[in-house]
This record gives sequence, C-alpha cells and structure tokens, in this order.
Amino acid sequence: MTQKQTTHAESDSESTTESPLETARRQLRTAASRTDVDDGVIERLKHPTRVVEVSIPLERDDGSVDVFTGYRAQHDDVRGPYKGGLRYHPEVNADECVGLAMWMTWKCAVMDIPFGGGKGGIVVDPKDLSDDEKERLTRRFAEEIRDEVGPSRDIPAPDMGTDAQTMAWFMDAYSMQEGETIPGVVTGKPPVIGGSYGREEAPGRSVAIVAREAVEYYDERLEDVSIAVQGYGSVGANAARLLDEWGADIVAVSDVNGGLYDPDGLDTQDVPSHKEEPEGVLRYDSSKTVSNEELLELDVDVLIPAAIGNVITADNADRIQADIIVEGANGPTTSTADTILHERGKHVIPDILANAGGVTVSYFEWLQDINRRTWSKERVNDELESAMLDAWADVKAEVDARGLSWRDAAYVVALNRIGEAKEARGLWP
Ligand code: GLU
Repeated sequence: MTQKQTTHAESDSESTTESPLETARRQLRTAASRTDVDDGVIERLKHPTRVVEVSIPLERDDGSVDVFTGYRAQHDDVRGPYKGGLRYHPEVNADECVGLAMWMTWKCAVMDIPFGGGKGGIVVDPKDLSDDEKERLTRRFAEEIRDEVGPSRDIPAPDMGTDAQTMAWFMDAYSMQEGETIPGVVTGKPPVIGGSYGREEAPGRSVAIVAREAVEYYDERLEDVSIAVQGYGSVGANAARLLDEWGADIVAVSDVNGGLYDPDGLDTQDVPSHKEEPEGVLRYDSSKTVSNEELLELDVDVLIPAAIGNVITADNADRIQADIIVEGANGPTTSTADTILHERGKHVIPDILANAGGVTVSYFEWLQDINRRTWSKERVNDELESAMLDAWADVKAEVDARGLSWRDAAYVVALNRIGEAKEARGLWP
C-alpha cells in the first residue's frame, strides 16, 4: 500500500462499517456545499420527519410466539407522499432506515417524480420464516403501521428480502381494515392485483440504460466493453441480461456464494437468477470461479455492484480496476471509497440515478392504480427509457458545466428541486 492509500484508510477507520445514515449525511454535506440551497433547508433535510418503531408478534408454525421489531422511516415529503421499500433483513435498524429513506428522497427528486423518501423493514432473516409465517408477519406489520401509510401518505414497495407476494399480503391486510380495495397503498404488486408490468425488471433496466449512456459518454462502444456484475437478483440479473443483449460482454456475475468469471463472456440467460434458482449461480458450468471480493477487483471496463451496501470501502477502493462503476445496489460505496475512486479518475454513477428505474415504475404503477388503468409492458418500458434519459441529461448537464462527480451532480439536481419546493411551500407555522 502506498503512503497515500494508508492515509485514506486511517482518515476513516470506520469506513468499512459506515452506516447508510453516515454515508447519506456525508454525501448531503458535500453536495450542500456545491449548491445555493438555503442552510435552513439543508438542516431540515439532515433529519427525518419521523421514524416509527413497532413490535410485531408472530405465531410460529409450531404454535410458539416470537416478537419482531419493525420500522418505517419517513424522511421528507415536500414533493409528495413518502415512497420507498420495506426490507426484511437481520441487520435492519432505525438509522439504516433513515439513511435509506434519505436516498429515496434524492432518488425521487433526481427523477423528478412527485414523491418524497421513506424506507422501512423488519429485523428478521426471511430465510428463517416459512411462507405462512412470512404472510402472518407481513399482515401484522401492515396493521401496526396502518396509520402511517396510504396512497397519498406513504407508499411502500419491495426491497431486500421482500417481493411482489409480500406487497400483495400488505395491500390485502391494509384494504381489509380500510373496508375497500386500495391497490395504491403499495407498489411492486403482482400485475393481477394492480401491479405494473415491467416493475420487477425496472431497477435492472435502469442500471443497464445508465451503464449504456455512461459507456457512450466516455467514448466507448458497448460492444467493446467487459462488465462484471456483483449480485444476480432482480437488479443484477436484469441489468446483466439486457447489457448482454445489447452487445456487451458480461464476463463475471456472482451471488452470495461467489461468482463465475469467463473473459470470453458468460451466457447470462443460462446462469440462473435468484428468482429462477436461489443461490444457483455457481451451479452453472464455467471454467473459473471467483469470490465476491475478487469480482470487484477484476480487470473490466464496467463494474456493477448490485448486491448489498458497503462493498466498495477504503480497504479495496485502491484495487478497483473498472473505469466506470454503476451502483445497482443502494449504498455499495462508502464515502471514503468514493473519494478514493474520484481521485483515481474512476467514474461512479450513483445509486440514486442508476437504480431509480424501480421507483420510477413504482410511480407508473401508482398512476395506473389511482386511475384504474393498465399500461402495456411496451408503454412502461418506453416511458422508463425516456424518464431515465431525461434524468441522465439533467445530471450530465451539471457534470459538463461544473466538472462535478456524477454523484455530486445528481445530488445537486435533487437538492435544487427539493430546495425550490421547500422555498415555495415555506415553513409552517
Ligand atoms: N426499494 C426500491 C429502491 O430502493 C424501490 C422503492 C420503490 O419503488 O418505492 O429504490
């Protein structure tokens, strides 16, 4: 390690364990210094409006009772109802929900969709729950946070450990208590009950679109680039398959158990995604396997971390070889790592832009629900493509005009929109 690298690591000894809230607050501080948004507005944005914590008793299949903790963090709603996923994961906590809710506020603003930011979840390992237990837990959670949510108040969606079926149970529990069917209370539902076509693929699709635009921006041809994708779930597999279809070489993919590497390119359709066969990546026959850590450091043109947060840290940022990093997961890069990558001339396309296709199609789903109409998959994909290109152009304008990093530019676009909305509405009373 060179002297310079050591200094980075020492300047932030906690960087490998940086919480999403710490990362989000640091990013906000940096971005705030690049905008004229009023200090009072920035101060308000450092804090969530509220964080609700609930206990959720669950009758297990054997008749015993366990009590789980659930949260819903609502960060800001100046531009519209709170919006964001529900995560079932053993490491969920209040601070994590607040950090992730902040990212949702910026994500919706950068996409210019009329929502604010929220996030919630339950401290539970979904692998420890039977389907029946997951259903009972979800229904009781929906009841415990019923006063906080609603189609014009706060609209949950899938996130880590939850899916369309979870949203269906949540929507049903809420609707039964309200006495009417209210599909717009959550998004990411199965299409048969008001979900949108294309919603499941949307975060991966937006990652692919943004990766394609970034490659072009840096004067490369998609056909000539090699790409490594960490995570082969809804985001990673959809992004990898689209980019493969568009001509790129996907040379490495992984799931929680490790990855495959083939410099000549993998057949991404044949590698089972998490949905097709959970944790099945390594069962695909490939000449070479790599660990998740090695995958990040491969000699590729584009790296897409699309699994979990905090994987690019002060410990490995110096060894990342890809020139373009497209954040498929939320918060895969700690703030110290981000600085290191920037100094090394790497281009990080931030999560709040790259994976924003998820919440964008959630918005389309919500529009379909409140209007009682269904859009075709073609229409959803067309509208998503143009929404991503608009957001890309807005962020690119800041990069070009001011030489900002892509993350700072995305924050500037988001903060300016939020700042204007706060100014227009004023502070009550
Ligand atoms: N959980 C997704 C995200 O982090 C989607 C949120 C939504 O659709 O509301 O963006």
